[in-house]
Amino acid sequence: MSAILDIRALTRTHGQGEQAVHALRGVDLSVEAGELVAVMGPSGSGKSTLLTCAGGLDRPTSGEVLVDGNDLTKLDRNGLAALRRRRIGYVFQDFNLIPALTAAENVALPLELDGARARTARRHAVTALQEVGIDDLADRFPDDMSGGQRQRVAIARAIVGERRLLLADEPTGALDSETGEAVLQLLRDRCDHHGIAGVLVTHDARHAAWADRVVYLRDGCLIGQSGPLPDADALLQEAGQ
Ligand code: ADP
Ligand code: MG
Repeated sequence: MSAILDIRALTRTHGQGEQAVHALRGVDLSVEAGELVAVMGPSGSGKSTLLTCAGGLDRPTSGEVLVDGNDLTKLDRNGLAALRRRRIGYVFQDFNLIPALTAAENVALPLELDGARARTARRHAVTALQEVGIDDLADRFPDDMSGGQRQRVAIARAIVGERRLLLADEPTGALDSETGEAVLQLLRDRCDHHGIAGVLVTHDARHAAWADRVVYLRDGCLIGQSGPLPDADALLQEAGQ
């Protein structure tokens, strides 16, 4: 199997000289189709920087970031923007929806920016909303939705079209735990059934338990990884609690 995301010797330094902040110091990470990898680590360890570099939202200082075989560091602005719209979905803690657009319009936006006709974009948007279970809210505005519903819209926007890579930076940070679990179940489902590679940044070991593997960042370095974390609920059940 080939990796959808292949990060090699990635460094990202902000500033120079005495003031230089080394957000990432030589990180390697590969994620295959169908795989969901959780990234854990203390605040400031470089988790968000890893994701923004993987998603083409930030430029590495050195190293390579390959998405579906394309080296993001070699693409110009327009090439990068096009690859982002077509192949990469991004989910943020604070949803990042456009308040003046309905759910369907938010989801259709990347397709329209990519030149799709309004009607085609709308059709794909409604399909994506259906896949996250809220197509009945297609014409509603974000301000009239709950946090969980907004995050589903954001996920629909991240999976619309033919995305290969789904990046989620603390997507459950603003949600209660039950709603958060439902969001993670959706991410898991995309990886299991749609051949997407997923990377999930989380503080919560229960959320990381949805991943196939957990990698740990500290001071900009990957310091280790583990297989799937045990599912706390299953352990308690086994213990007869
Ligand atoms: P995390 O998501 O794990 O909390 P970040 O990736 O946001 O960590 O940040 C890693 C390090 O890089 C931190 O020390 C942070 O202060 C620094 N950093 C991030 N973005 C910038 C920036 N634009 N300018 C300067 N330093 C930054
Ligand atoms: Mg962060």
